Amino acid sequence: MRIRALVVESQPKEKGKFWLVHLTWDKSDSKPRVEFLPADEYVGKELDEVYPKLFERFGKVNIAGIGLAGEYLYSNSGVAFDDLKGRPSRFPGRGGLGAVMGSRGLKFIVVDKTDAPWVEIADKALFDQGRKKLTEALRTNDLTKPKGALNTYGTAVLINIMNEAGGLPTKNFSSGRFAGAPETAGEAIFEGNKERLGKELYNHACSPGCIIQCSNTWHKADGSEHVSCVEYESDWSLGANCGIEDLDIIAELIRLCNAYGLDTIETGTTLAVAMEAGLAEFGDGKKAIELLMEIGKGTPLGRILGNGTETAAKTLGVVRCPTVKGQSMPAYEPRAVKGIGITYATTTMGADHTAGYTIAPEVLSVGGKADPLSPEGKAELSRNFQSATAYIFDSSGHCLFIAFAVLDNASGFEGVIDEINGVLGTQYTTDSVSKLGAEILRKERAFNEAAGFTRVHDRLPEFMKYEPLPPHNTVFDVPDEALDAVFGKL
Ligand code: SF4
Repeated sequence: MRIRALVVESQPKEKGKFWLVHLTWDKSDSKPRVEFLPADEYVGKELDEVYPKLFERFGKVNIAGIGLAGEYLYSNSGVAFDDLKGRPSRFPGRGGLGAVMGSRGLKFIVVDKTDAPWVEIADKALFDQGRKKLTEALRTNDLTKPKGALNTYGTAVLINIMNEAGGLPTKNFSSGRFAGAPETAGEAIFEGNKERLGKELYNHACSPGCIIQCSNTWHKADGSEHVSCVEYESDWSLGANCGIEDLDIIAELIRLCNAYGLDTIETGTTLAVAMEAGLAEFGDGKKAIELLMEIGKGTPLGRILGNGTETAAKTLGVVRCPTVKGQSMPAYEPRAVKGIGITYATTTMGADHTAGYTIAPEVLSVGGKADPLSPEGKAELSRNFQSATAYIFDSSGHCLFIAFAVLDNASGFEGVIDEINGVLGTQYTTDSVSKLGAEILRKERAFNEAAGFTRVHDRLPEFMKYEPLPPHNTVFDVPDEALDAVFGKL
């Protein structure tokens, strides 16, 4: 299906009214048809209740939609996409996109691609050659191959690895190690499912065609499905970062986030700030669920928490606020892994690990090897990762997880470039895609500058500079000049 963009301008005249966009294509001329339909009957409800009704009404469609969080215009609201089983569980969660849709009165975009034109491939032979090279790299890498680490344990395989490295943020970023980590790790999910289902369960694809298949499900004690997917970030933010080590509680917190349309990373870091403020004890899962339900109900406390970590920290008087540019940090402690801290500080998105995933060389020894605790050379490392990511993964639509297989495999990397050239009819090389990435970053920076961001915003929170983090007892000691050099030398 070929859609470059949907542009929805302005706001509805009637406040509080929500609409559904139904997008189809006319078979006779392959042109799109757009219908606006009232969506009021779906407002105020949980998404896992509403999506089945939409499938019943519209048939085999795909849906992007907002939940209660987007209706309330919370800063912490994402957009829910259906997975291959129709679960509203795949989120572009970060940055408050749900509130952007909500402010337009746009509740759902329902796409029926039956008669839609498909992407044209300029050079099919080159595309197929690239696809074969990439597939071979993915099928032979220990992380990405069938029954490999991601297919078996999911992204939560990182819990034990980051805990061992002393870089798993714990109890609102007060430690890099969590005693309960093994109880919540990907290995525990695999073994727990095996016990409850009486058989091994390997993971599934979140989108058509993926051969890594890293998306997991967690099952209740009676064998019924509780939630999909328990990603590393969600598992950590609602687990270790809140001091919670019970997978059933973590699964329920994730289920509620999906049902309300909330970003799990921001929700977990917000709950941890609330715990530090004394609204609950760290580790109190029952109270964490109650606080999350306040967000769904839209109570005054819920509205404070629904607007994310920074709003909660300011309102509740918590100094240890792990945010950059208003967005909370994900599951890697910058005091224990310096390069990712530079990415958090300098990316235009606010604290975003996916913008330049230096964890690969710093912790996983993929794409090189770098000492995580040393600040030396990390500005350049972060810049190179950010440039490469902007084009090769973010703009081409490849999942970031192929990086594990292609960073150390020249043929796999060529395969990605061949695929891009095959689709577009271009002649990009490894060098030229990196330059395109740098150009994308310059445009993003220009956008941010026009919106009022300066170098002052490219900094980590103050407490990370003076509060040593156990177990390594290190602070974030990357000088400001190094942070400024990331884009100064782009
Ligand atoms: S590897 Fe990427 S595309 Fe595949 S299931 Fe995992 S997240 Fe989805």
